[in-house]
Amino acid sequence: MIDVSRWVRPAIAKLTPYSSARDEFAGDADVYLDANESPFGDYNRYPDPMQKLLKEQLAVQRGVSENQIVVGNGSDEIIDLIFRTFCEPRTDVVAAISPSYGMYAVTAAIHDVKLIELPLNTEFDIDESTLDLIQSEDRIKAVFMCSPNNPTGNLLSSKWMERILNTNLLVVIDEAYIDFANENSWISRLDEFENLIVLQTLSKAWGLANARVGLAFTSPVIADWMNRVKPPYNVSGLNQEAAIHALQNPTQQRERVARIKSEKTRVEQSLAALGSVVKIYPSQANFILVEFNNAQEIFKHLMAEKVIVRDRSSLVKNTLRITIGSQEENTRLIETLQKLE
Ligand code: PMP
Repeated sequence: MIDVSRWVRPAIAKLTPYSSARDEFAGDADVYLDANESPFGDYNRYPDPMQKLLKEQLAVQRGVSENQIVVGNGSDEIIDLIFRTFCEPRTDVVAAISPSYGMYAVTAAIHDVKLIELPLNTEFDIDESTLDLIQSEDRIKAVFMCSPNNPTGNLLSSKWMERILNTNLLVVIDEAYIDFANENSWISRLDEFENLIVLQTLSKAWGLANARVGLAFTSPVIADWMNRVKPPYNVSGLNQEAAIHALQNPTQQRERVARIKSEKTRVEQSLAALGSVVKIYPSQANFILVEFNNAQEIFKHLMAEKVIVRDRSSLVKNTLRITIGSQEENTRLIETLQKLE
């Protein structure tokens, strides 16, 4: 058994779990005069700090216990919470695959925590050299991986992810795009790895980017520490309701994911016929990374035509990352690119 509590930052180890008079009472009272709220208006009461209804629903859907869930104001807040809970500024070191989602490095920098890059191989995958690099550094506290990876779109090899999990470091697997992939979530392996944090979000396949609802699934001990550190009212009641509402309709989510996947195939086929396209990287996400012979020029041209994509040339040479949108949006993208030929 791993003693997760010894990973917690000394200042955090002194914190007791969040509690309030409302939690102590745990029911519907007649009069609430405990939280300095206004008695007037429609949004006058604080939301449930422990997001109980949302967690109940998630626990059933994902096959975990409620005490294995952390809900954040987007998964960006959960990345921040991981640093605040476990990574001592100027002392601890974290590692993250590269190229990948920018917030691991940004959040490390904000917290003054050194980040070691784990370069992906030519297939944008991890391999034995990733494990060697992790093992050659003795100060690494946490490893961040993202699968399907942003911006490359591919899944990482589960064999090497498992080997990294077996190092017994804190391992974060960011599954923001897992609903678009032909692979199971690592949530199903949580019982095997007490050091695993699986990040998911309702911002992508569940269509709730505006509501800011991010999720962490992990061991009860890790979830307990992170829940002590999070701001009590980090997810508004309106957004908790929006999340519950979306999760009640998994059929709609599946239909939308299927539409995005079939549009992805159509966009890939149309782009492959263009002379300016050098390579389309295989994607298990709701975006594709495309190498052009002149990415920056194409990017500017698209922008002038009011079509916005993401230039990722600083991460992977001459590439644009293109989100798969609605049929109309994708057609507009394709037609704009065709005009350039
Ligand atoms: N992880 C990855 C890999 C992402 O691409 C994103 C969004 N771009 C996030 C996390 C953050 O998502 P959110 O904060 O909306 O949950």
